[in-house]
Amino acid sequence: ERRKNSRGMDLASEAQLAELGTVLLESLREPSLRKTGEVIRNPADHGDIVGRVEEATPEDVQLALTAASEHAHDWAAVAPAERARLLRGAADRLEQAMPRLMNLIIREAGKTASNAIAEVREAVDFLRYYAAQVEAEFDNATHQALGPVVCISPWNFPLAIFTGQVAAALAAGNTVLAKPAEQTPLIAAEAVRALWEAGVPRHALQLLPGGGETVGAPLVADARVQGVLFTGSTEVARLLQRSVAGRTDARGRPIPLVAETGGQNAMIVDSSALPEQVVADVLVSAFDSAGQRCSALRVLCVQEDAADRLLEMLLGAMAELRVGRPDRLAVDVGPVIDAEAQANIRRHIEQMRARGRRVHQVAGRALHPLDGGTYVLPTLIELESLAELEREVFGPVLHFVRYRREDLDGLIAQINATGYGLTLGLHTRIDETIARVLAGAHAGNVYVNRNIVGAVVGVQPFGGEGLSGTGPKAGGPLYLYRLLARHPRGVAERWLD
Ligand code: NAD
Repeated sequence: ERRKNSRGMDLASEAQLAELGTVLLESLREPSLRKTGEVIRNPADHGDIVGRVEEATPEDVQLALTAASEHAHDWAAVAPAERARLLRGAADRLEQAMPRLMNLIIREAGKTASNAIAEVREAVDFLRYYAAQVEAEFDNATHQALGPVVCISPWNFPLAIFTGQVAAALAAGNTVLAKPAEQTPLIAAEAVRALWEAGVPRHALQLLPGGGETVGAPLVADARVQGVLFTGSTEVARLLQRSVAGRTDARGRPIPLVAETGGQNAMIVDSSALPEQVVADVLVSAFDSAGQRCSALRVLCVQEDAADRLLEMLLGAMAELRVGRPDRLAVDVGPVIDAEAQANIRRHIEQMRARGRRVHQVAGRALHPLDGGTYVLPTLIELESLAELEREVFGPVLHFVRYRREDLDGLIAQINATGYGLTLGLHTRIDETIARVLAGAHAGNVYVNRNIVGAVVGVQPFGGEGLSGTGPKAGGPLYLYRLLARHPRGVAERWLD
């Protein structure tokens, strides 16, 4: 019996059904040569077509779910040491392909070369970290895989976050249905290819490119899915929470959702801090990756008596930031991901201006005419209070507020009142202030006297509190336990509860 999917592709036999991933990978094998499908454009230069991608159809989604659940036992039965070996093989492949992957990240996601290199390294680290962890700590007799797990990732770390989720889910013995962000499917396909070439069976890992509502939502809603890993906005995480709420597996256990979401990240600077160091750290924290990091600094809170001087220094330094195409090595601030993001950020800036807030949009040093891509100039907006921050603005926009020395606790309370709790920075030379902030602030990662971006797999795991995520922290020792069912000896219960 030959069957065709909605694009007329043959899905002829049971053997092909088991190898479903082939259908999707075939459509991605030479992305730049594909003649059909959605066009992926370079955010820095819209005339540059990076590749094309065919979205998974509803039928593809159903077939992928079938293959993932039918083969769940096969992959779960592979010895942990063997799963670890395959992940390491993929890590080696990504490492060897560094220059090509770096170029793809620059063109598809608009990242600078140094950010793109860091991203490939992080993806490699995730693969090796989870490989080492599963090899050292797990065995199939005491740890049960959940079954099919959906991984949904954002475009802002299109390789590292995608690979981190997939590596953890596979390491724990789950079959994976991976839905990359619609803006960045090509680099995700590279990670999948590396895992397949290393020997991960295609039924254990399937790639389902496409939209959130058209592909992501039906995947998460399917009763066969036993776990969900999500990184993205808090709004979408809420939808997913509703979708899995009340759902249980065959033994009545709740379906786990691990969500890593947005932030409203603050940095507190008192008058004992060293201004030059603060300025250098703020520039990186707020404007690196054009501010498109969940960890990026959104609001700088400066003690009143130091504020004027620091603001002047900061605006001077911002004026020197080089804005332009990230394939030029001198660039500090590249484009934002697409026209929709650009319009959202500009709308926020205009709203603040209309409210009478002082907006400093420093020209920066544009290295070439910026009209070919979706650029936003580095911007600083002076606010009267943190309460004016309504939503996460995901771009090169920094807010600035002043606080009184005697009101540090009030400031900490305002930061907590945003409801988010991802990263927090602190610049001070007073030990007591460090202790007060550490004790009072709700944040997953706190950075003292340094920039606030950055997490190191296995060394400094990353994750937020409150609206910023469910935990456990990615790249940390507890993460794999969320991807396992409670097993006979009860160790997972101890970790989870
Ligand atoms: P997004 O929430 O718009 O999309 C994330 C993913 O969810 C995409 O793959 C998208 O297609 C999918 N999606 C959208 N709607 C869906 C639905 N109804 N059902 C299922 N899936 C759906 O986020 P984004 O714009 O891609 O990424 C930026 C956001 O991600 C920011 O809020 C940022 O703070 C957050 N982020 C958080 C972390 C972290 O570790 N906490 C890391 C990176 C990014």
